[in-house]
Amino acid sequence: MSKEYLLQKYRIEEKQIINFFKNVEKTKTCWNCQKIPNSGGYAIFHANYRAFMASRIIWELYNGPIPDKLYVCHKCDNRICVNPEHLFLGTQKENIQDAINKGKIKIKLTESNKEEIKLLAKLGMSQRAIGKKFNVSCVLVCRILNK
Ligand SMILES: [Zn+2]
Repeated sequence: MSKEYLLQKYRIEEKQIINFFKNVEKTKTCWNCQKIPNSGGYAIFHANYRAFMASRIIWELYNGPIPDKLYVCHKCDNRICVNPEHLFLGTQKENIQDAINKGKIKIKLTESNKEEIKLLAKLGMSQRAIGKKFNVSCVLVCRILNK
């Protein structure tokens, strides 16, 4: 726990952390923040007339400072969850990749992309490598190749 760090960085005091957790419903898996989330659907930690991303505050409470340019992502895909065990650090690229993998972002392939995929497969590139190149799943590559 690094409460001192939160106090230093955000001026968040222990009683504010306690108050925050009064609005958190702990289920067997997720710890759901019951307060109204932000426009992106993420739980918010209100303190000192400011709104912070709750997932960042909680991650830092349990683990210490978040390294530069890293984002706090959810393994459980539940944006109001603040269970520290469900949070992990990722780069923005990983965050986007994670969303793609979970099907939240749909990548549209053009006809010429599809032709290129077929060509690359013929040239011996693996479906996995093709998927990586086009930011799509191997399953989708496989489907295109079997058309
Ligand atoms: Zn969760």
